[in-house]
Amino acid sequence: MNIQHSDIILVGGGIAGMTAAAAFGTAGFSVALVDPSLAKQSNDLRSTAFLQPARALLARAGLWDLFEPHAAPLKIMRIIDAGGPPDAAAVSADFDASEIGDGPFGWNLPNMAIRQAALARLAQLPNVTQYPDTRFARLTPRRVEARVALSDGTQLSAKLLIGADGRKSAVRKAAGIGTKIHRYGQKALVFTVRHAPPHNDCSTEVHLSGGPFTMVPLPDADDGHRSAIVWMETSAEAARLMQLDEAAFNDAASHRSAGVLGPLALTSPTFQKS
Ligand SMILES: Cc1cc2nc3c(=O)[nH]c(=O)nc-3n(C[C@H](O)[C@H](O)[C@H](O)COP(=O)(O)OP(=O)(O)OC[C@H]3O[C@@H](n4cnc5c(N)ncnc54)[C@H](O)[C@@H]3O)c2cc1C
Repeated sequence: MNIQHSDIILVGGGIAGMTAAAAFGTAGFSVALVDPSLAKQSNDLRSTAFLQPARALLARAGLWDLFEPHAAPLKIMRIIDAGGPPDAAAVSADFDASEIGDGPFGWNLPNMAIRQAALARLAQLPNVTQYPDTRFARLTPRRVEARVALSDGTQLSAKLLIGADGRKSAVRKAAGIGTKIHRYGQKALVFTVRHAPPHNDCSTEVHLSGGPFTMVPLPDADDGHRSAIVWMETSAEAARLMQLDEAAFNDAASHRSAGVLGPLALTSPTFQKS
């Protein structure tokens, strides 16, 4: 049987998997990175905030220089409680990064930009082998190594197997690691918007019944200021919002944002629900 050996098998090429592959690859380990979505176009509209300590790790992995042009600093975290009685003023609290140090709390980046940059870095690392057309299928744990079978029949072995294959991780299941699932009856709508006033590197959460509406700064685009939105709602309300046409959705989002960034206009062609 032809078994391809490496130091590490990494299942899952999302943000966790790709950054880990870059970090281990840069440190000199041979890595087999398995994910059927590696070769596909991404439509992930989420964004990811990396807090301060992540920058040093990303720099050591050769990623930070590629990430930085897409990074919006997070200097202020603003929490607004708009859930009081209808006529009551909203209560707001600011947390300012300058109160605890020199830099921002961290940086926010669109997941699609992270992915492009990470793929570019991985292409520079000959000791990271990508398996883009296949998926993890089976684990055979042995005393000195893990044997992994992929869905196309490829056999891999390594001393370390990392499951970075998301919330429904097949690796976790194969390793017999249990989970506890809590259902909150909420859904999140994820999209990006254009707005006229600058966000001033401030991440704002507006809390109301149904969940938070979070506006996370993105780097400015040619056509103006942008933010990534995560809008949590009860499942029924999220389903209703998804049916609105674009103009009605923009109105609803602008209203729900408590007008913090003025009228919001969708920039992403579709929503993503999660
Ligand atoms: C609605 C929502 C909004 C969010 N907003 C933010 C935010 O504003 N800021 C922030 O910092 N974070 C945010 N997050 C969190 C962040 O986006 C995720 O935690 C992060 O993307 C998870 O990355 P991951 O690599 O662990 O998993 P994933 O992105 O889920 O990647 C898992 C990968 O594993 C692959 N895979 C699955 N099964 C297999 C298999 N059998 N074999 C091989 N590969 C497999 C998949 O193809 C996928 O590419 C948000 C999350 C959600 C759900």
